[in-house]
Amino acid sequence: MIFIKNSDQIAGMRKAGALLYEVLQTLKEEVRPGISTQDLNARAEELIRRGNATPSFLNYNGFPASLCTSVNDVVVHGVPDEQCVLKEGDIISLDCGLLLDGWQADSALTVPVGKISREAADLIATTEACFFAGAFAARAGNTLGDIGYAVQKLAESKGYGVVRDLSGHGIGRDMHEDPYVYNFGIPGMGFRIRPGMTIAVEPMITMGDWHVDEEEDGTFVRTADGSLAAHYEHTLAIFDGKAPELLTYPGYVWKEMA
Ligand code: MG
Ligand code: MG
Repeated sequence: MIFIKNSDQIAGMRKAGALLYEVLQTLKEEVRPGISTQDLNARAEELIRRGNATPSFLNYNGFPASLCTSVNDVVVHGVPDEQCVLKEGDIISLDCGLLLDGWQADSALTVPVGKISREAADLIATTEACFFAGAFAARAGNTLGDIGYAVQKLAESKGYGVVRDLSGHGIGRDMHEDPYVYNFGIPGMGFRIRPGMTIAVEPMITMGDWHVDEEEDGTFVRTADGSLAAHYEHTLAIFDGKAPELLTYPGYVWKEMA
């Protein structure tokens, strides 16, 4: 069941989103060669708790950390580890969620470690562009298929793969609510998008084939062919007649898109 939020409820989610934005911006600045993924996780937890929020990922389905740290061919759900020390040329996806005053926020981005290859930088930039293409289509009257189509069309036009096994999702009181928000689709198909829906749109894009493997406990989702992967996510709110508000990107203003 899809939970429609009123403006007071969206205001609560906006506060959670703003805090998560600060957390991820701080973490992004701390990514550098020599730091371990466990260091980043510890910092994430500290920042979340300092904001009087609770880390949503910690103990979620047994996940042992507050931050997912997914390096290179790991698409999502990488587990932080003090033995995993970042090196120049790596890329790392940071996915974080928090609960503030009963409302969830969920956001992710992929960050270069030092100087990275042109190819890796293009993958990161395209994954972000895929998010914005999908999110721009996330408006009342369109369907979830329109979001997925927009993401898929852009990614595949560059020869990239779109991970099929995982998706975006509704979000609110719970981190994962209905509906699933796939990153592939057919225009006009799927649920109709309505004002008051709050969803996380999160393309997971690979430089090669889209097939993935994961550990038995669901952690470390990796590309099956070992190619690099990137991830970009925001929590957004749908209003009537306009592009969505990015709750985890305060102050973002939509530019005209083709
Ligand atoms: Mg996430
Ligand atoms: Mg999510």
